[in-house]
Amino acid sequence: MTPRVGAHSTPSRCSQHTAVLYAPLRIEHAALRSAADTLRLVRTGMGPTRAARARITEPTPMPTLVAGVAGSLSSEVRPGDLVVATEVRGDNNDPVPMPSAPMLAGALRRRGLTVHLGPILTTSRIMRAGERDTGDALAVDMETAALAPGGDTPFAVVRAVVDTPDHPLYRAGSISRGLAALRTLRAAVPTLEQWAAATGPREVHLAGPRSFCAGVSRAIDTVDRALDRFGAPVYVRRQIVHNAHVVRELEGKGAVFVQEADEVPPGSVLVLAAHGVTPAVREQAKDRELRVIDATCPLVAKVHAEVRRYSVRGDTVFLIGHADHEEVEGTVGEAPTNVIVVEDVEAARRVQPPDPDRVAYTMQTTLAVDEAESIATVLRERFAGLSAPRTDDICYATTNRQRAIRAVAHEVDLVLVVGSANSSNSKRLVEVAGREGVPAHLVDDVGEVDLGWLAGVRRIGLTAGASAPPHLVSQLVHCLGGLGPVEIRETSLVDEDVLFTLPREVS
Ligand code: SF4
Repeated sequence: MTPRVGAHSTPSRCSQHTAVLYAPLRIEHAALRSAADTLRLVRTGMGPTRAARARITEPTPMPTLVAGVAGSLSSEVRPGDLVVATEVRGDNNDPVPMPSAPMLAGALRRRGLTVHLGPILTTSRIMRAGERDTGDALAVDMETAALAPGGDTPFAVVRAVVDTPDHPLYRAGSISRGLAALRTLRAAVPTLEQWAAATGPREVHLAGPRSFCAGVSRAIDTVDRALDRFGAPVYVRRQIVHNAHVVRELEGKGAVFVQEADEVPPGSVLVLAAHGVTPAVREQAKDRELRVIDATCPLVAKVHAEVRRYSVRGDTVFLIGHADHEEVEGTVGEAPTNVIVVEDVEAARRVQPPDPDRVAYTMQTTLAVDEAESIATVLRERFAGLSAPRTDDICYATTNRQRAIRAVAHEVDLVLVVGSANSSNSKRLVEVAGREGVPAHLVDDVGEVDLGWLAGVRRIGLTAGASAPPHLVSQLVHCLGGLGPVEIRETSLVDEDVLFTLPREVS
């Protein structure tokens, strides 16, 4: 088939062009011209008819971008803001989804641009201010629906807002609003190039098990049940689990997160988070007559019990872990004068207990298994009478997730770990993959994926920390599917069937 090319397209498809970029108007084309080295820049002309005529048809369509100005349909979307389309709705066609939109929006935000994510409407004539009540669509243009490539071809749309329902085109200030929109379009060009470079077919290797563990599920269920049983607000000391999405979702249901128990009104319900607390926190809650529900993971509680047992008999307890982690703070609080936190091998070589014959060790539950074992080995070599826990303190969930990502790391070019920056077990997954020689990154959600990481990468390993909701992994896979066909491979090392009973106050 002979390619059909619009009247204002660049002369031919160059081998370095990674995508076609449609810009309807001359001024939009000019604002985007710095992209012409890497993208096939095509000026379509205004309106759906001209756009349809300019659309390039080829047996294998190139990834497709549409960029230009648009009218806002929402008072939240201001002149100069960008709208990244999650789907485009035309007058006569079914909506066309754009799954990679959240990733593109995240990349544009990291450039300092104000970005809104939502549907875009394509109409065949300029929409007047009074006509702009169109449901949840954020912006309106006149070309995008006619330029959709169809099939699975990667497709993305970025529109800079030039007018709004309150400030329509024919009112004063149009020129300055237009200039603001064109400036934003120019600033978006490097990200559009990154999006194009990130397109292509790829394999996604899912590491199993991943995501929620039994302790995290129990803690979240505890807050949910407490809200059902006692009504909002239910107070939670610190993050119930170390994940920003979980916290936001529970806040939406009526949970109130506080730093300390003394912020909670007397007599209220207070849930203690999964990573445990010091006895002093329990005392504080008791003094305020709070109704305490303890969501400490039973495996963390087991480490607390070990510390109490060793210290009662007069041992110094080496706690292998990170001193600034909340779990470690809570565990140290069981016997502050008897516990020494040992963070690394060097510290294990230097540590001097008061009585070297009366020593024991425990571990933070979410450490890297191999690192923690190296530290324990040094301690065992130095202290012949060192007492050790009967079973490993690093929990089953941490161990399983690390084993799974280590197995997957050998098969891929890049590892993405879904988890929040304060999640210890998620950070350890990044380190484990890195030690296998694979670039690895922690992302809170799909919006944090850097498009630059994906250029030329055909095999991605994907996992999630024990505190990260599984739907975030599904969203990331869906989003990657918007950059090209994705083949899913699942590596599941073990089926986890661990369940913890809920605290009696909510069971
Ligand atoms: Fe419990 Fe392990 Fe989950 Fe932490 S990661 S909540 S210790 S099961």
